[in-house]
Amino acid sequence: MTDIIEKGRVRHPEKAHRPDQEVKRKPAWIRVKAPVSPAYHETRRIIRENGLATVCEEAACPNIGECWAKKHATMMIMGEICTRACSFCNVATGKPGALDPFEPVNVATAVASLGLKHVVITSVDRDDLDDGGAAHFAAVIEAVREAAPETTIEVLTPDFLRKEGALELVVAAKPDVFNHNLETVPRLYGEVRPGARYFHSLRLLDQAKRLDPTLFTKSGIMVGLGEGKEEVAQVMDDLRSADVDFLTIGQYLQPTPKHHVVDRFVTPEEFKLYETQAFGKGFHMVAATPLTRSSYHAGEDFERLRTARAAKLAAG
Ligand code: SF4
Repeated sequence: MTDIIEKGRVRHPEKAHRPDQEVKRKPAWIRVKAPVSPAYHETRRIIRENGLATVCEEAACPNIGECWAKKHATMMIMGEICTRACSFCNVATGKPGALDPFEPVNVATAVASLGLKHVVITSVDRDDLDDGGAAHFAAVIEAVREAAPETTIEVLTPDFLRKEGALELVVAAKPDVFNHNLETVPRLYGEVRPGARYFHSLRLLDQAKRLDPTLFTKSGIMVGLGEGKEEVAQVMDDLRSADVDFLTIGQYLQPTPKHHVVDRFVTPEEFKLYETQAFGKGFHMVAATPLTRSSYHAGEDFERLRTARAAKLAAG
C-alpha cells in the first residue's frame, strides 16, 4: 500500500483530515507477484530517462509487474498533480505546474524505445487550463504518430467539463481509441467522483463517436464501491446508447486508509456474469476481471475489438 505522505509532501490534502478506514484484506484472486523481471527494470529505465510519469506507478496499479515485464507502461501526461479529488484515486492532488513543452517528444521517444504496438496515454485532470490540456493531448498524439507510425494510440482523457471545443481538438488528432471512464454508477458520483457529472461523461463519449464514427470508444467502471448489479446493468445500457464499443470492469482497491472503502470483493464468477451480460447488450469488446484496468492488456484487446467490429459490420 502507498502512503498519503510522500517525500514530506501530503499527496491528498483533501483527504488528510478524514478518519482512517479499515483496509480489507485482499482475497486470494487479487494477489499479484512482486515486479522482479529484467524487462520490468528496462521499462522503468526508459520511463525515467525520458522524465515521464506513468499511471501504473502513480495509481499504485497491482498489475505493474506483469505489464512492465511486457514493456506496457501507460504514460500519464501533464504532470503528476491532479486538480480533482476523486475518493478512489491515488494520484496526488493540488495545484499543478506549467505544461512541459518537451513532453510530447519525450513520450514519443519512450514509445519508440519501448517498441510498443499499442500505447495508452492518460493524464491528470487539468481544470486550471483553458482547454483542459486538449491541445497538449493532440501534440502528444501527433509526436507519437511521427516517431512510431505503426503504433496504435489510445487516449484515456479527463472529462473536459466546461472546456468548450476541447474534445474536438483531441478527436481531430485521430487517436485510434478514445477512452473515458465513467468509473462508477451515477448514484455514487457525489462520494466517488465529486468533481464530475455522470451525464456529462456519457455525453462526451457519445460526442466523440459522432465527431468521428471510425473512432473506437471505450469506457470503464470499478466495482466493489457499493454499487448494485441493476445499477451496473443501467450503466451498460447508457454506454450502449452512447454507442461505446468497449467496456472494462475491474475491482476497486483501496490505496490508503484515507480513500474510499472497498464495499466488497466481487468474485471472478460474478465478473464472468458481467462479461456475458455486457456482450449480450452489444459491446464489441468486454474485459471484466478482478484485475482489469483500462489499460490492462489494452494492445491485445484492441486487436480483438478491431476484429469484432469489422466482423459485425461485414455481417450487416
Ligand atoms: S494495468 Fe495499466 S496502469 Fe496498471 S500496470 Fe498495466 S498498463 Fe499500468
